Amino acid sequence: MEKLIYLDNAATTKTAPEVVEAMLPYFTEYYGNPSSVYGFAAGNKEVITRQRETIAEIIGAEANEIYFTAGGSESDNWALKATAECYENKGRHIITTKIEHHAILHTAEYLEKKGFEVTYLDVDEKGLVDLEQLRAAIRPDTILISVMFANNEIGTIQPIKEIGEIAQEHGILFHTDAVQAFCQVPINVDECHIDMLSASGHKINGPKGIGFLYIRKGVKIRSFVHGGAQERKRRAGTENVPGIVGLGTAAKRAAESMEERTKKEVELRDYFINRILTEIPYSRLNGHESKRLPNNTNFSFQFIEGESLLIMLDMKGICGSSGSACTSGSLDPSHVLLAIGLPHEIAHGSLRLTLSEETTKEDLDYTADVLKEIVEHLRKMSPLYEDFQKKQKK
Ligand SMILES: *Cc1c(COP(=O)(O)O)cnc(C)c1O
Repeated sequence: MEKLIYLDNAATTKTAPEVVEAMLPYFTEYYGNPSSVYGFAAGNKEVITRQRETIAEIIGAEANEIYFTAGGSESDNWALKATAECYENKGRHIITTKIEHHAILHTAEYLEKKGFEVTYLDVDEKGLVDLEQLRAAIRPDTILISVMFANNEIGTIQPIKEIGEIAQEHGILFHTDAVQAFCQVPINVDECHIDMLSASGHKINGPKGIGFLYIRKGVKIRSFVHGGAQERKRRAGTENVPGIVGLGTAAKRAAESMEERTKKEVELRDYFINRILTEIPYSRLNGHESKRLPNNTNFSFQFIEGESLLIMLDMKGICGSSGSACTSGSLDPSHVLLAIGLPHEIAHGSLRLTLSEETTKEDLDYTADVLKEIVEHLRKMSPLYEDFQKKQKK
């Protein structure tokens, strides 16, 4: 295979070999159902508990506050739908933002159809929520605030602690979609007054189809999958033991390497951003310069189409994204880029490149060189660019 430069780590990551290795025995050797009584299977219960402890420790929670799910989307759905049902006697108003992942936005829309009211907070041009707007949106019947920890497209990290404090002051539950932030940014659920938190395995070099929802003790929440007594009767189904072991192993690994890894990623990220912005004219960085995920870059290049850019990058062995994986394939520009105020034509020329622990300076230099060439090439064919140049000459 030719050299592949994978810069789409916000979409998914490579499962680390040691994670796969840790999972394998739970397919072929210790395949027993954790609910069975015989020793060989019952051991799996303890294994699951250990993974719960590992994860809880990373976010400053208790092991019995971690509920395994089939990934970030399920955790987000659970947090919103179950809170809505359990607290609807208190009120039917929910606050979230315009830049959430579709797992939150589409769930919120579903709840609107069920008679709930949802306020979608604006963000500023860097993607930050305005705390005053949040305060003003709170009503006596507000039951939940759900604001993502860090955005998957533009990488902006929200003032989560301040949002948590506001929620607590008003006695409102606070959920955060931390799928992008978990093991990328230090998180403490008590310090940030987080009541519920979603995370996913495959964004942290773990397997796909496994994640968790942290639910603070005392939060009323109905079971999401009805059936057996697994996950404290709140999420039925025979446990995905290999997946849980994979998630726990990946989380431990990513938490241990977080400080060093993210320091290196921030350096490379900023080096790359600087090269792009200085060497490619009419380009801009989307998102916040510093309140930003260590591995995220997102640019807009005027006068070109993001999709053409992606295809040409692919021909050079570079994997990127024009927004979120879920937005690709539709012609609408990303809701996140529109929310930060980009006009449609500029949002269309956007590119997200997200680094991993394996990304090197050489990879980024090659990418920057290739990108420069491609943008120049596409602009030569762009009628918009031609018009623009004519106007400049006048
Ligand atoms: C990837 C992602 C999700 C969805 O997680 P899955 O495990 O793929 O279901 C939700 N929210 C954010 C912010 C994400 O980046």
